[in-house]
Amino acid sequence: RTMDEMGKEIPNEAPWKAPHAEEWDKMTMQDFIDKICWTNAAKSFATLFVNVDVTSEPHEVSALWFLWYVKQCGGTARIFSTTNGGQERKFVGGSGQISEKIMERLGSRVKLRKPVVRIDQSGENVVVETLDHELYEGKYVISAIPPALGLKIHFNPPLPPMRNQLINRIPMGSVIKCIVYYKETFWRKKGYCGTMMIEDEDAAIGLTLDDTKPDGSFPAIIGDLLNVLIMSGILPQDFVLSLSELMSVLQPVHYEEKNWCEEQYSGGCYTAYFPPGIMTQYGRILRQPVGRIYFAGTETATEWSGYMEGAIQAGERAAREILFAMRKIPESEIWKPEPESIDVPALPITTTFWERNLPSVPGLLKLIGFSTVFTSVAVAGLFAYKKGLLVRN
Ligand SMILES: Cc1cc2nc3c(=O)[nH]c(=O)nc-3n(C[C@H](O)[C@H](O)[C@H](O)COP(=O)(O)OP(=O)(O)OC[C@H]3O[C@@H](n4cnc5c(N)ncnc54)[C@H](O)[C@@H]3O)c2cc1C
Repeated sequence: RTMDEMGKEIPNEAPWKAPHAEEWDKMTMQDFIDKICWTNAAKSFATLFVNVDVTSEPHEVSALWFLWYVKQCGGTARIFSTTNGGQERKFVGGSGQISEKIMERLGSRVKLRKPVVRIDQSGENVVVETLDHELYEGKYVISAIPPALGLKIHFNPPLPPMRNQLINRIPMGSVIKCIVYYKETFWRKKGYCGTMMIEDEDAAIGLTLDDTKPDGSFPAIIGDLLNVLIMSGILPQDFVLSLSELMSVLQPVHYEEKNWCEEQYSGGCYTAYFPPGIMTQYGRILRQPVGRIYFAGTETATEWSGYMEGAIQAGERAAREILFAMRKIPESEIWKPEPESIDVPALPITTTFWERNLPSVPGLLKLIGFSTVFTSVAVAGLFAYKKGLLVRN
């Protein structure tokens, strides 16, 4: 509730303009958690919440950035929920099909295995050179790679200082995806959905989801091995062990893992994060074109940034920026809201009375403090009245 309240004052398109932007940007999420969570249970859940949402540690990320991130995904319940939330749907056949289907339409215009290593906009056209020295020319370029990967590209003229510094300052999150396969979805038989939250500090994985295929084949549980554990040398296999212990039933029949930290053209996953101090100093540079280079990529989105949805919003916005530069559309058309999904509309998040009204610990203390003062004044008044110090008219 506190995070959602704070999020309300953060503008999606310009978090650096939030009234408390500077104060919150100096704070890490760890500082924030230490400040507002009173119990160990709340602290460990808040830590898990940060870990799972942005594949990084609370001490690594700016509170302003994280509060913005959650807000632009529709709030704490929307981002974290499976049903009616960010984790609900999967693509039958896998999300890789989006790229494959687009490629089918674009045909040979899509170049695979051609990493760009140089962008030269010193001449009339922008010239892009790939690692194997092929050259491509265009009037404009849209860069849709994670900002930090811009460090692999040589720019002529060099990037302006603020952009050059920005791309040095926003690293990617760290995650190894682990999938454990079983003979059957035994958790469903027990009435469980497959989501487990494991708050043990030494647990290899914090959150799991049912990853069985939509037709019921390949029963599987998926989980993310997170940053701090990767660093401390916990192996993905430990995930299998902890799952076996937790479920204390079947042995897995198969195991798959994907270490996104080793992907040189992602640099990590799911998205870039802002350490403290960076959003207020460099945030406004993120979408600013550099000459004829325009910037897309999920990191530049203002809704569901960090997700596929955000990548699409960003790509369309960058394309419209260029259409505007070419005088084909008015400026007012650059930003268009993404249409609501027809198949999967986001339903309102419903909360119980207690979820809305149960006082927080500081709220409770205030209440007790207030009632203590009130009671003391009342007792003192009664005492004074009894002693005849207060005269009744
Ligand atoms: C394990 C994992 C799970 C995820 N789960 C979800 C989920 O459930 N739902 C969801 O919505 N999102 C999810 N995401 C996030 C989602 O994948 C990203 O938000 C989305 O792919 C970002 O799209 P993008 O186009 O901005 O960047 P990317 O998809 O990263 O595309 C950038 C492309 O640029 C290429 N590239 C990099 N450098 C160069 C270069 N120099 N020259 C040429 N090409 C280059 C890369 O190879 C890549 O193909 C997940 C991500 C990961 C890693």
